[in-house]
Amino acid sequence: MAAPRPERLGILGGTFDPVHIAHIVSASECKAVLGLDRVDLVVAGDPWQKRGDVLLPAETRLELVELAVDGVEGVAASGIEVERSGPTYTVDTLEALAAVGRELFLILGADLPAALGSWHRVERIRELATLVVVTRAGDRHAVPPGEGWRVEHVDIPRLDVSSTDIRARLAAGRPIDGIVPAAVVRRIAALDLYTPR
Ligand code: ATP
Repeated sequence: MAAPRPERLGILGGTFDPVHIAHIVSASECKAVLGLDRVDLVVAGDPWQKRGDVLLPAETRLELVELAVDGVEGVAASGIEVERSGPTYTVDTLEALAAVGRELFLILGADLPAALGSWHRVERIRELATLVVVTRAGDRHAVPPGEGWRVEHVDIPRLDVSSTDIRARLAAGRPIDGIVPAAVVRRIAALDLYTPR
């Protein structure tokens, strides 16, 4: 009997403060192009490299991601890093998700590979996952520092949106329709999030 095909799990980590359409497009395009079984949007509980800049509590960021992925085939929200205490290290998430018969794909926007050198236990990340670099401003040349990485590149339509821009729009009373999924727009309005107090 042929050996069962390994499960292929994509992991798109982020602060998601808040989630936006480029996150969803990246996840579903990587799933399709690389034949992944599922992509998890993993919400950072305590994103230590952004400490002081994160506006919403982790539970609220996770709730918005859950609304955003509702109905998106093969894309799920994950609270694994929210449930864990202490600073959020991607390597801990990969170790928790690694399993016999499962291949891990760590999905990153093209702005991030250059910064990987500052990540916690980066050599272990290299062992545990294939890096998937998603084109964010058309740059297909973003590569991680050092040798020995398994890397895939996936192009998505160029979407010049960011959580930073969304926070600025909301603070200024401008609309975010179309930049985040409608259910997320409604929840942000209902909870009156990101507006100046
Ligand atoms: P911020 O503006 O607060 O820095 P962000 O919009 O970059 O936030 P994150 O939650 O930090 O959002 O990003 C999670 C992941 O999504 C990262 O790998 C990031 O590179 C990627 N990403 C974010 N925006 C885009 C985009 N417009 N196109 C492609 N990838 C993106």
